[in-house]
Amino acid sequence: MSLGYAEKLSFIEDVGNVGMTEHFDPSTILREKIEQLAIMIKKSKHLVVFTGAGISTSCGIPDFRGPKGIWTLQREGKALPEASLPFHRAVPSLTHMSLVELEKAGILKFVISQNVDGLHLRSGIPREKLSELHGNSFMETCPSCGAEYFRDFEVETIGLKETSRRCSDAKCGARLKDTVLDWEDALPPKEMNPAEKHCKQADIVLCLGTSLQITPACNLPLKALRGGGKVVIVNLQVCLPFFSPNHLLCVNEVVDPITLSFNNIRNNI
Ligand SMILES: [Zn+2]
Repeated sequence: MSLGYAEKLSFIEDVGNVGMTEHFDPSTILREKIEQLAIMIKKSKHLVVFTGAGISTSCGIPDFRGPKGIWTLQREGKALPEASLPFHRAVPSLTHMSLVELEKAGILKFVISQNVDGLHLRSGIPREKLSELHGNSFMETCPSCGAEYFRDFEVETIGLKETSRRCSDAKCGARLKDTVLDWEDALPPKEMNPAEKHCKQADIVLCLGTSLQITPACNLPLKALRGGGKVVIVNLQVCLPFFSPNHLLCVNEVVDPITLSFNNIRNNI
């Protein structure tokens, strides 16, 4: 089941802030922000999207820090939330599909995700336009030749351990490893380097469904600011104060209705 990942992670005491209050923008303010966001995206030259657990909750996958999130309940000593679907049966959300359409339209240049549910790849974001910072539960990789294998089943281990399968390249045959990080694992340069490069180039980094709590991943959107880029956060928690208000648009709403409005942007280009 899809909590497999959370249950496989080693236990740590300090998981950062959890259970923060959720805010929803009043409807008039929300409408203004959506219009503002649409104009920004339409004018953008290098749009990068940065995603977190909040874009997969509508797929039946629990988040980590929301009121019913995995870390929140763990902190409160409660049982972990029930996932309505196993990972392998979860299907991409409206948000995943809206991003695919933006990519096909040439507007979205790169996606960076903290999620390990594999839904960006399954929805059709090209692998070369995606950094999965914390790995992918369905991906095995060959440490010898670098080949990647995207499976239709969840790989049994996490923590970059050897799995029970081997590379199918006849000249290689090395033992494969899972790609999902445990707490102590460093972010892999293969995912981190392109993510950094695109954030530096970005005129907008659109953060969807993330409370930007996990370092160093959460520092990536900041790299856009140095080049004059802006950061947009769509999330239910209040935005962190380290962004200057001039460079930040914070939209307090669930992500699907916001990304659905992107369809109008594509149709107007
Ligand atoms: Zn190999």
